[in-house]
Amino acid sequence: MNDCLFCKIIAGEIPSRKVYEDEFVYAFCDINPIAPIHYLFIPKQHISGASEITPENAEIVGKIFTAIAKVAADENLGSGFRVVTNCGEDAGQTVGHLHFHLLAGTAMGWTVQAGV
Ligand code: AMP
Ligand code: ZN
Repeated sequence: MNDCLFCKIIAGEIPSRKVYEDEFVYAFCDINPIAPIHYLFIPKQHISGASEITPENAEIVGKIFTAIAKVAADENLGSGFRVVTNCGEDAGQTVGHLHFHLLAGTAMGWTVQAGV
């Protein structure tokens, strides 16, 4: 866990551009945005990904989505936004700390294409 990039961001050991924070959730700008608005929402507790959500820790997912709805309202994303979590190799997960991408600011397509 000490080597976790997002745990280091939460601890302030690695800088980030914060967009939201509460007791349980932290959100910040993705360093390599794929949409005009691209934020990452993460739990402050280390969970390695969506496959590790259990009855014991699932409450955090509701807290994250509550934070997403608040940011979407605050930033007037009424024309639409997308929330994505990549889990595991095939999905392209690169950071082993649960995170939800909030994408917005443009009309988006919907395809799944290997390697793209
Ligand atoms: P994923 O590929 O779904 O695991 O998403 C990881 C995301 O973390 C990618 O979109 C990266 O651009 C982003 N990322 C990696 N390092 C940083 C960082 N230091 N600050 C902000 N975002 C980062
Ligand atoms: Zn972590």
